[in-house]
Amino acid sequence: MTSRLVLGIDLGTSNSVGAIHWEDGHWSVVSDAHDKTIQPSVLSFHPNGSVLVASAARKRRLVDPKNTIYSAKRLIGRPFSSRQVQEIIPRLSYRVTEGPAQQVMVSVRNHLLSVSQVSALILQHIEKLADKVAGQHVPQVVVTVPANFNEAQRAATRQAARLAGLDVLRIINEPTAAALAYGHGMDESKTILVYDLGGGTFDVTVLRVSRGIFEVLGTAGDTHLGGDDLDERLTEAMVEAFMQQHHYDLNMNEMAILRLRSVAEKAKCTLSDKESLAVHVRELAYGPGGISLDLEYRATRDRLEGLVADLVERTIGICDEAMTLAQLRTDAVDEIVLVGGMTRMPLVQRSVTSFFSRKPVTSINPDEVVAVGAAIQGASLLGTLPASQGHVPSLLLDVTPRTLAVATVGGFCQILIPRNAQIPTEHTRTFTTGADYQTAVTIRVCQGEHRRFEKNVMLGELRLEGLRPAPRGEVRIAVTFEIDSDGLLKVSARDQDSGEIQSAAMRVVAVDEDNDSAWGTDGQPPLVDEDILGQLPDDEGTRS
Ligand code: AMP
Repeated sequence: MTSRLVLGIDLGTSNSVGAIHWEDGHWSVVSDAHDKTIQPSVLSFHPNGSVLVASAARKRRLVDPKNTIYSAKRLIGRPFSSRQVQEIIPRLSYRVTEGPAQQVMVSVRNHLLSVSQVSALILQHIEKLADKVAGQHVPQVVVTVPANFNEAQRAATRQAARLAGLDVLRIINEPTAAALAYGHGMDESKTILVYDLGGGTFDVTVLRVSRGIFEVLGTAGDTHLGGDDLDERLTEAMVEAFMQQHHYDLNMNEMAILRLRSVAEKAKCTLSDKESLAVHVRELAYGPGGISLDLEYRATRDRLEGLVADLVERTIGICDEAMTLAQLRTDAVDEIVLVGGMTRMPLVQRSVTSFFSRKPVTSINPDEVVAVGAAIQGASLLGTLPASQGHVPSLLLDVTPRTLAVATVGGFCQILIPRNAQIPTEHTRTFTTGADYQTAVTIRVCQGEHRRFEKNVMLGELRLEGLRPAPRGEVRIAVTFEIDSDGLLKVSARDQDSGEIQSAAMRVVAVDEDNDSAWGTDGQPPLVDEDILGQLPDDEGTRS
């Protein structure tokens, strides 16, 4: 029998949260035996063979850093050789290797896991907690992802949920979920800005909410901007202070840096409530004669704000970008919703208030609002959302975070779906062959804002064979991009002129985001858009 309960899971970089939507229309946030709702997204492989998850695993970050996995969300769905992964690796205490098809693999003790497998164990942990709270199995879930996750990252998240044995009703964007939790039941029409600053990522989304319909007007973000970066700044300041006190550089001492990072994070959180605090860290290193070298550091809110001002300012620049995309002025925003633990920082709240000349709403718990929104979305999909709660969101509109395009002649892109297009959506364009008597064509798909294909991120390709041999420009191929409500992309191609229909689903492949070999590698001329037939280069040109 299918359960009428549904679980919303906010799978975060630092922490994950689950919320159940009950049959009677209520929701509650899932808590563990210690009444904790926030579950660290951490795994630790113990020497005794057991796998610890969440708080128990987090405790082992300092004791056993090499076998404790955290921040997996920063790696999910990314190719091993991508700039992003290569930049993160030196900052991770556990070992990351390259697996088949450029997959990122995590190597701990005698285990080799894909990042999706790591996330699956975290999702499973939340689901087990939910089962306990509900007194029954709650396998149906809605999982959230950052708005600017690409197709590969969404697919890897979905795969993680499947590996966890969950039935994924939908993958939705985190800011959309937050707005859903907040706006649910609202009668009037409003423009809401969701500012989400978590441990590892930043997202801002401008939504129009009207009669239960959530329409995303603009979205922007940075997958590498979050609380961890602020912790790093404070850690550096403490390393510097230690240097001045003891003329000893802690940068070579991995364990000391890890300890300081954890101290820095706690200090940062405390400084959201207090103006200052004294930090004492014992035995960070040993001096001549084996004497213990300790750190004494006076952390103040002012000093912290000075250290991280540019990072917070960057989030405001991204807000500006989202407003431009939404074609709105800042005074058009009716409500600002804060999401993510970092939004408790007074500097963040002040900066947002000053940019929008409006105070954010603080009635929503910034750690739980995304999971709650996901659970509400799940209930809406199952049809268990009572009408008495207000307007039922019958439709959840969302947008594509990046432009989606295909490679055409000369290394350029033809846009099929522009950035910020509402999804689900479907777009078709007709292309022609680029060479005489060509019988096959490779359709290469990318996402990004550049006119040049190689400057964008290649998502995958599909090959259409058996074309009628004819002079170039004669055979017409209709290429369709279809994005479903999870934001997953399907590409199909139809040989129009022969009357035969051939189609194929696009394979999302892991590729190197920095390499420019995505073009013309198999000697097949690229597609030529009908619109640019007049500028058709010769065969040499098409293979450049
Ligand atoms: P999230 O990814 O939403 O769980 O956010 C986690 C981030 O929020 C981490 O960087 C935490 O250090 C940070 N955080 C949590 N509580 C606070 C607080 N009271 N003040 C400042 N940052 C906080």
